[in-house]
Amino acid sequence: MIAELLASRIRDVPDYPKPGIVFKDITPLLADPKTFRAMTGEFTRHAREARATKVVGLEARGFILAAPVAVEAELGFIPVRKAGKLPGAVYAVSYALEYGEATLEIHRDSFQPGDRVLIVDDVLATGGTAAAAVEAVRRGGAEPVGVSVLLELGFLSGRARLAADAPGVPVTALLRV
Ligand code: AMP
Repeated sequence: MIAELLASRIRDVPDYPKPGIVFKDITPLLADPKTFRAMTGEFTRHAREARATKVVGLEARGFILAAPVAVEAELGFIPVRKAGKLPGAVYAVSYALEYGEATLEIHRDSFQPGDRVLIVDDVLATGGTAAAAVEAVRRGGAEPVGVSVLLELGFLSGRARLAADAPGVPVTALLRV
């Protein structure tokens, strides 16, 4: 089963990057081409089912997951980056972290009218990052048609935060813990 294969290639790293956090390390999955391909196939199916016309990846691990989906589905890849990294004119969306604030940016000319966007990332935790990405896509004039993640940390209720902050966008997780 795909879920078991994916789960077997994600490594828990306790107390990283700080005490009390269990970091979900996807580097074993990325190093295994069979599993990487299986994951890409699942996300590509999401993109097709949502009739997406663009794939957005979130810096940094989201880039690695989303780019092969864009190629496989023959859709454009659009990066959503941390503040100050994109060279052109951007829309910036700030959101609250546990301590402080973060900002995501997207190029203003990323989309054409009518674009439908699948957002791809590795982990859905509190949902703040994904909600900001949805907002960035909307600011860019496109329709977010889905958020697809490899792993949802259910105990952090990211799905509920997304439903509240960015309503109307279906969330799909290949795995949930
Ligand atoms: P959040 O905004 O809280 O949903 O956090 C999601 C972002 O932080 C994603 O881009 C993840 O890459 C990263 N992240 C959050 N928690 C973890 C974790 N336990 N392990 C790995 N990455 C995480």
